[in-house]
Amino acid sequence: MKALCWMGKNTVQVLTVPKPKVVEDNDVILKVTGSTVCGSDLHLLHGSIVEMQKGDILGHEFCGIVDDMGPKVTNLQKGDRVVASFQIACGDCYYCKQKLSSMCERTNANTIENGMYGGRTAGMFGYSHFTGGFAGGQAEYVRVPFGNVNLLKLPDDVPDEKGLYLSDVISTSWNAVVDTGVFEGDVVAVWGAGPIGQMAAEFAFLRGASRVIVIDCNWRLDFIKEKNPKIETINFKELPSGTTVTSKLKEMVNNRGPDVAIECVAGEYPKSWTHTIELAMGLENDTSEIVNEMITSVRNFGRCGITGVYAGFTNHFNIGALMERGIRLIGNGQAPVHRYWEDLLKKIQSGEIDPLKMLTHRVSIDDMDKVYYKFEKKEDGMQKVFVET
Ligand code: NAD
Ligand code: ZN
Ligand code: ZN
Repeated sequence: MKALCWMGKNTVQVLTVPKPKVVEDNDVILKVTGSTVCGSDLHLLHGSIVEMQKGDILGHEFCGIVDDMGPKVTNLQKGDRVVASFQIACGDCYYCKQKLSSMCERTNANTIENGMYGGRTAGMFGYSHFTGGFAGGQAEYVRVPFGNVNLLKLPDDVPDEKGLYLSDVISTSWNAVVDTGVFEGDVVAVWGAGPIGQMAAEFAFLRGASRVIVIDCNWRLDFIKEKNPKIETINFKELPSGTTVTSKLKEMVNNRGPDVAIECVAGEYPKSWTHTIELAMGLENDTSEIVNEMITSVRNFGRCGITGVYAGFTNHFNIGALMERGIRLIGNGQAPVHRYWEDLLKKIQSGEIDPLKMLTHRVSIDDMDKVYYKFEKKEDGMQKVFVET
């Protein structure tokens, strides 16, 4: 079968590899019909998450048709059209029972490396050996462990193009606003106008936000504004000299700043364009820069949520502002998809949520390697791709 494989730092390739088989009694073999590339795949492409091995199959957002299954899969049948969650949950441990499935205690055997965090996440598809080394779904077939738990049936009125994104982006952006806490009337600032930031902005309005301001530096700001004219934007590369994202946000929001800030970028982008204090202190290579920008931008007692991926440790963190001004800093975690996906599916059916607002490209799996490089460079007006398989 064809599969998109990681072949070393900054190199991915579509290769022919063996088709997966049922290994455990609760496995499902899914014939993939649609998949996509996520901002998280870029961290793998760049080698920022180091536990990759040559030949690993990537992909954690995919949907398809049940092709084969072990004897313990009871709530699915061959031919069912389903979407997979990006995390692999057992459905029965301490966290799974609370629908905090992204922290399943059973599916990620990697305890040693994760020890530095004081705990570990669930196993994840196509997301390195840090999260269990499971083969991903950017392929013609994929093995889905705990098939009863990690696949959601798609009704006839939800085509693959809409259902696919429940896997990750729709559930993640929803988690970002719910977990950070967006309430009626809040002014919300979102860092990053990629698919995650775009949907977080949409969902902030759904949760009753009065204003949503998105910060980025490219064509995506125009793209998301076209899809939702209520969104306000800041292009941090076009700010006049002496104006920072923080000062601009204060100016735009009552000289106090927004109630809520949500990070949908990642700690991978180390360069400071706007934070003049940090620049003056020579801290421009610090990955906590956007987090500091959020902390200084929100009003006193404001809430900041981190959904973009950060790895390891950071220095130069503005703990003084956090304490003195009572800022709530929340790690949103890997989003627990199972907690939300049934409700979100209903919102897609009712039209409250339209995943197609993100979709800009349809490609074949044969071209998936090229998609990675375009998506990475934010080229060709590429916001979110549907990969036909
Ligand atoms: P993306 O790469 O398409 O978008 C990131 C955007 O951030 C880009 O448009 C980029 O121009 C912008 N950006 C770069 N530097 C910036 C800065 N200093 N200020 C404001 N914007 C800046 O990625 P995506 O698919 O939208 O994903 C966003 C993040 O969410 C990624 O880190 C991804 O790994 C993460 N993610 C987390 C989860 C989770 O469960 N927590 C799930 C999926 C994705
Ligand atoms: Zn993802
Ligand atoms: Zn579990």
